[in-house]
Amino acid sequence: QDPFLSVRDLSVRFSTEDGVVKAVSDLSFDVERGKTLGIVGESGSGKSVTNLTILGLHNPQFTTVTGQITLDGQELIGVPEKTLEQLRGNQMAMIFQDPLTALSPYYTIGRQIAEPYMKHTGASKREAKQRAVEMLEKVGIPQPKLRVDDYPHQFSGGMRQRAMIAMALVCNPDLLIADEPTTALDVTVQAQILDLLKDLQQEFGSAIIFITHDLGVIADVADDIMVMYGGRAVERGTKAEVLRAPRHPYTWGLLSSMPRLDSPVEEPLTPIPGTPPSLLTPPSGCSFHPRCDYTGDVSGTACTTNRPLLASGRASACHLTAEQKQSIFIEQIKPR
Ligand code: SF4
Ligand code: MG
Repeated sequence: QDPFLSVRDLSVRFSTEDGVVKAVSDLSFDVERGKTLGIVGESGSGKSVTNLTILGLHNPQFTTVTGQITLDGQELIGVPEKTLEQLRGNQMAMIFQDPLTALSPYYTIGRQIAEPYMKHTGASKREAKQRAVEMLEKVGIPQPKLRVDDYPHQFSGGMRQRAMIAMALVCNPDLLIADEPTTALDVTVQAQILDLLKDLQQEFGSAIIFITHDLGVIADVADDIMVMYGGRAVERGTKAEVLRAPRHPYTWGLLSSMPRLDSPVEEPLTPIPGTPPSLLTPPSGCSFHPRCDYTGDVSGTACTTNRPLLASGRASACHLTAEQKQSIFIEQIKPR
């Protein structure tokens, strides 16, 4: 059986005044129903662009997309805007970091949840409002019958985030894309929102793509993890594989920059030195080589001249041998 969402050899190029931005290159991954894929990487790694491409939200005049994206057997690249519009909200939906980008200040919360429901299901106004109340209740808004007539400014930040989730889920989308949805929230509200997403996923069986730069959040929500760097996937595996036995120097860097709860003293975090690669003029060979500590462990000039490829399944795009990846992680990264 084919995967529910399948992305194959996806490349996204933006034409800018300065040249062509290689925002996403040769990207392939799958997501199954009821599963969560966590995509992690620094800003500019291509994670948000990938997901806006799935939703068909780029300006076609400046964007070239190649490859295949199939959702439930349907090809999404190159389909008419009308078809995408029908799919968005109905089959796929998105929640963002800032709910105010999704919620209009001019309409009540209830109307904004009801509208896509009427549009996609043909429900009456009354039915749709009833559905909006139900959704607000599901996402944990107290007194939903009263709050349904509030405007976004009358909600707290955490409540707006919940309202946006209600809006995204009102048509039971099969695919939910969550882009840093909890980054702006305090830790307690963040934990509540993540629990809520997990509960709703159980109930609706949606596939979720969860984008974040925070490995702690990924550890909480993901089934599988894909690590992106410079517009490419550099490591992929199950959550346990990637977090417990990571095989790519960039993933090691991300792990080392994570605060440790069990650490006895306040250790300074080790952010990865250097800056993300230019997407206009990416480095030759492995894009990570200007920042990598292990180029000397690879024979010859492979790191600077040959791009390491990512195999399918559990894989990491790095020229180190499997034995080196294992021993460097166990001896140098893990014990820190
Ligand atoms: Fe580092 Fe070379 Fe591996 Fe790239 S291929 S991550 S530069 S060791
Ligand atoms: Mg982003």
